[in-house]
Amino acid sequence: MAFEGLTERLQNAIGKLRKKGKISEADVREVMREIRLALLEADVNFQVVKDFVKTVRTRAIGAEVLESLTPAQQIVKIVNDELTKVMGEEAVELNKSDKIPTIIMMVGLQGAGKTTTLGKLALKLKSEKNARPLMIAGDIYRPAAIDQLQILGKSIDIPVFALGTDISPVEIVRQGLALAAEKKNDYVLIDTAGRLQIDELLMDELAQIKELAQPNEILLTVDAMTGQNAVEVAKGFNEQLDVTGVVLTKLDGDTRGGAALSIRAVTGKPIKFIGQGEKMTDLDVFYPDRMSSRILG
Ligand code: GDP
Repeated sequence: MAFEGLTERLQNAIGKLRKKGKISEADVREVMREIRLALLEADVNFQVVKDFVKTVRTRAIGAEVLESLTPAQQIVKIVNDELTKVMGEEAVELNKSDKIPTIIMMVGLQGAGKTTTLGKLALKLKSEKNARPLMIAGDIYRPAAIDQLQILGKSIDIPVFALGTDISPVEIVRQGLALAAEKKNDYVLIDTAGRLQIDELLMDELAQIKELAQPNEILLTVDAMTGQNAVEVAKGFNEQLDVTGVVLTKLDGDTRGGAALSIRAVTGKPIKFIGQGEKMTDLDVFYPDRMSSRILG
């Protein structure tokens, strides 16, 4: 289960406070040391932990908190507030174009869940907004990617534009967009190639697709299970492509939570959705306050 270790350690730290009637400044410092360790162990980015602990400590040591009748409860509230803030406070909606189609370009490393998420998002748009999306199969390097998208498309009854693998992705996208214009699709979702690591060739190609398609949304898919690495990947993609949002996948697994807590603070970009399973319906809007409650348990 996601966040298990983090939740347990936070609850332990806070549990000790609850047992005390009156709380001193030293107690706050002690609990903050434990929270700091818990966050670092959960793979939260070092700088994020440092800033977080400092803010919570300063607020918690404030006279009103320690002298209140329920100091432990107030400290839990502060931790909850600040966790929510670190993750961006509010849910951020998908960008939408004034005129059709809204173009969404999906990027990410191989295996992160990009193609799956593309299908999930197309289905969500169809079922919640009555949209008529077109998916474009632009990953010509992983041989099975196009088949995978076509099978997915059939299962959710959403059309896929594909031209095989002997043609450049930019050309596929150009023709796909022309078809979408003709068919008046209101959303176009472009699947792109992933790699095992960020490399220049990949980034060049993605930049060319971006230039041509002028997407309203560049969604980066990152795998929550990869912890600190997920944050590094997000930083790298964002520097090269100026992404507009992040989808954090595999939050149903036993991720320690670091990526969920660090990505917004490190990249400045919102997590817009979370993937919580392999089924096409396992995609949810990311609500920082709900995530914070889930982490606190
Ligand atoms: P891509 O290479 O980035 O396009 O990755 P895929 O979409 O092919 O996904 C890689 C694997 O991750 C597949 O087995 C997916 O079913 C799985 N996957 C994707 N998203 C999630 C998720 O949110 N939870 C779980 N448990 N598995 C996921």
